[in-house]
Amino acid sequence: MTVKVHPMPSMPLLGDPPPWNEAAPPPPPEQVGRSVLGNAVNLYGARPANALVIGGVHGDESEAIFLAHLLLSAGCPAPIIPCLNPDGALLRQRWNRNNVDLNRNLPTPDWQPEALNPRYPPGAAPASEPETRALLAALERVKPSTVLSLHSYKESFIEIERPEAELSGALNAAVKEYAQAAGIERRQSIGYPTPGALGAHGRDNGLLVLTYELERGASHGELQPLLQPLLKLIAALEAERFRG
Ligand SMILES: [Zn+2]
Repeated sequence: MTVKVHPMPSMPLLGDPPPWNEAAPPPPPEQVGRSVLGNAVNLYGARPANALVIGGVHGDESEAIFLAHLLLSAGCPAPIIPCLNPDGALLRQRWNRNNVDLNRNLPTPDWQPEALNPRYPPGAAPASEPETRALLAALERVKPSTVLSLHSYKESFIEIERPEAELSGALNAAVKEYAQAAGIERRQSIGYPTPGALGAHGRDNGLLVLTYELERGASHGELQPLLQPLLKLIAALEAERFRG
């Protein structure tokens, strides 16, 4: 059996290639940056929009990268970067090639040079990493009010730092409907400080950030049923401009 490799530069090596829809291939990407190793960081559906979807901030979270590629192939209703950290995906590591945790490298008021935990090295300076700058370029290009970032963790939940009162009834309802469909909780905190993370960047810039932790180790077959509910949630995020 021959394995077809999709000619997308940021496509990570996956056990099972996503079911690409050849009748409706993804739109051509806009390259928003390059990784340390020179791999493209691609933004698909690039345009000013209310929502931006990101996968693969952490290279070893293949669940998130896989689901992001499924969203892309299904016609994601918002611009999407399926894999922000292509080097990490190729190397199967959380960090980028410089061993920096990209979700601690954003320019935020709380950024600090010391790693709170050896697992979270923040880099030499805020936005020292090319992948972080690619994300900032994508935010500048899309100017979203809401960002959905896909990750994976030992338990699955969706984290929104903002209280329900700050979201519209429609957004709260869409999140609730998704959480029920996926059988997960909505949380307001991940439970530990995350300086330099996207959530902190969002707080500082009036962005609504949804951090979705998929279940670590979920198979492609277990992730597939999330696709339709997640497309619906993203359509709801894209339908209105969050004003925080
Ligand atoms: Zn992660």
